[in-house]
Amino acid sequence: MRVESLSVVIPCFNEAENIAALFDRLVPVLETVAENWAVLCVDDGSVDETLARLQALRRQHPGIRVIKLSRNFGKEAAISAGLAHALGAHVLIMDGDLQHPPELIPDMLKRQREGADIVYGLRRSRNTESFLRGALSRLYYGLFSRLSDVPMAPEASDFRLMSGRVVAALNALPEKTRFMKGLYAWVGFSHEPCLYEVAPRRSGASKWSLRRLCGYAWNGIVSFSVVPLRFWTVIGSGIAALSLFYAGWIGLTTLVFGREVPGYATLAVAIFFLGGLQLLSIGVLGEYIARIFTETKNRPLFIIEETHGFNDGSD
Ligand code: UDP
Ligand code: MG
Repeated sequence: MRVESLSVVIPCFNEAENIAALFDRLVPVLETVAENWAVLCVDDGSVDETLARLQALRRQHPGIRVIKLSRNFGKEAAISAGLAHALGAHVLIMDGDLQHPPELIPDMLKRQREGADIVYGLRRSRNTESFLRGALSRLYYGLFSRLSDVPMAPEASDFRLMSGRVVAALNALPEKTRFMKGLYAWVGFSHEPCLYEVAPRRSGASKWSLRRLCGYAWNGIVSFSVVPLRFWTVIGSGIAALSLFYAGWIGLTTLVFGREVPGYATLAVAIFFLGGLQLLSIGVLGEYIARIFTETKNRPLFIIEETHGFNDGSD
């Protein structure tokens, strides 16, 4: 059974070498599962031939639409741009490097027809990643779920099929710091996993350096949890209580044994330790204020330079 229409959103950043191979595999699948399909490729400020290749492919497949962003805004923003333009009851997100097998789409659609609003690709294994990265990632998602009350499967990927109402809910979220994996979980609706084997990247290297990943991970936590802020209230109260006991102890020993002059080491340690704690907690406050700052500036998530293939007068 074919669905009436399916939109596919693909964020592309320097994927020129992968685009043609991707469509070779994707289009036959789309032809079999949907009466009408559209693929929205978001060119996230690529500096290679990505745009030219997409344009060439558009002549072959009129269902391809292109949104070119004015610079590299990051994968989350690129996905948001695609979702803002996606129409219809079934919207799929996948990577442009063929790590997400298009052959899984019929299976995902079947699960959606059985009633799930969100069908997410669940990696069977993390064989394309190092052991350390896999372990860190599991640890992170465990921590995230605990801190944020938004449960998230560690192996869940951006490869997912969503119903029109989920996409509408995501599009209605005004926040600028977008941690998509958290947002998919936050909007709710019924989720259903669909297992797949993640393939190695077809060509080129992952755009996620360790630094970028750490930034992404930290963004996720502070966008979805206020526990790092509350933590300092607990630490502060703990230290204040201990100080009271210590003051009592000093008073008592002074009364019993008379005044004691030495104590230089205790003082020095206390000053440095508390100074360090204060700076750290101010730093955490700063992280949240920085996000408030970003949100209040209210800049758009992305800027579109040009679009192709939409029925709005553009070519
Ligand atoms: N991507 C993007 N903008 C970026 C980085 C990545 O649109 O700034 C796209 C990229 O082209 C690919 C997808 O996001 O289609 C996943 O990126 P990548 O393969 O580098 O990440 P990984 O698979 O290692 O998580
Ligand atoms: Mg990849």
